Amino acid sequence: MQDLLNSVRIIGDPVLRQKSRPLVFPDDTPYITGLVSTMGKVLEVAEGLGLAAPQVGESVRLFIATPDYLDELNGHVVFINPEIHPYGESEKREEGCLSVPGIYEMLIRPSRVSIKAQDVRGNSFSLDVGGLAARLMQHENDHLDGILFVDKLSPVKRKLLKGRLRKLREGGRVD
Ligand SMILES: [Zn+2]
Repeated sequence: MQDLLNSVRIIGDPVLRQKSRPLVFPDDTPYITGLVSTMGKVLEVAEGLGLAAPQVGESVRLFIATPDYLDELNGHVVFINPEIHPYGESEKREEGCLSVPGIYEMLIRPSRVSIKAQDVRGNSFSLDVGGLAARLMQHENDHLDGILFVDKLSPVKRKLLKGRLRKLREGGRVD
């Protein structure tokens, strides 16, 4: 259990800042199967809402959502090579991240997203979601481009968090 939790990369780890590579079907299929299985276990133990591959050290374009969202996401919890288009009104919601433990902040993002992605077999699907699912998709997709939610906070907020973020980057914990 603890090993799984410890496999989550924390801010300061260079893999969280890389632009991830697209996955290729069918060449990457066995790798994807293993990765999705590992990530599912990590997400469950960490009790997170979503997890992107770079958060477990794999720089590839894949993220998962917790099965709690199965209905809202039309049965999809694995998103491979996603293309995300946020739209609609701006909405303020609290965000947190397993890679930035202990920090939760309000952040403004568009309220809806349309998504195109591939499933574990490489089949393409499209979705259009709002609410928390839309927020989750945007947050996880950012990870694939090396972006963390704290990057999107106002300069004032970032300044206030500077000490705590530095502590995390240096291997400490903030609680
Ligand atoms: Zn995150």
